[in-house]
Amino acid sequence: MTDVLAEAVETTGHVVAIERIGEYQVLTLRAPEVARRTIPGQFAMIEAGCLLRRPFSIFRAVGDAISVAFDVIGDGTRWLAERSLGDELAISGPLGTGFSLDPEGPTVAVSGRLGPRASSAPTKPFACSIR
Ligand SMILES: Cc1cc2nc3c(=O)[nH]c(=O)nc-3n(C[C@H](O)[C@H](O)[C@H](O)COP(=O)(O)OP(=O)(O)OC[C@H]3O[C@@H](n4cnc5c(N)ncnc54)[C@H](O)[C@@H]3O)c2cc1C
Repeated sequence: MTDVLAEAVETTGHVVAIERIGEYQVLTLRAPEVARRTIPGQFAMIEAGCLLRRPFSIFRAVGDAISVAFDVIGDGTRWLAERSLGDELAISGPLGTGFSLDPEGPTVAVSGRLGPRASSAPTKPFACSIR
């Protein structure tokens, strides 16, 4: 656990892309130190316009950016959904224990449904990493 926390950084992410995937809002944040350290299955705590940051699975970590896909549930996710390109958001991450592979056996990625709250957000980067 200590090693996992040691990998996390506290930084500022800049919104570089906003898109929708189905019913989900996807924010892409330029955060090179977080992107570089992320492995599939990890999450980040992201500023959400209120006292406490909110946790989101890292849906993509490509180059110097991470993406999170979320559903608007309450005040924090509504605030995040209203962000604009260039906005700055405080981030800490990557957090959590990422997925590990058994190099000896076949690997199957199973997800409950197509929606980030149902765990497919971390499953997607994992599936891409084992292709
Ligand atoms: C490790 C981790 C990773 C996560 N990754 C993602 C992700 O990738 N995408 C994503 O959309 N969400 C994800 N979540 C859930 C996300 O953090 C919450 O949806 C978010 O914190 C809600 O914040 P809010 O301020 O909008 O809602 P709040 O104001 O905190 O809550 C508003 C209302 O919605 C209810 N509520 C809050 N969260 C949920 C929920 N998950 N399901 C049902 N009801 C809820 C609350 O009880 C409250 O009644 C993750 C949570 C964890 C712990």
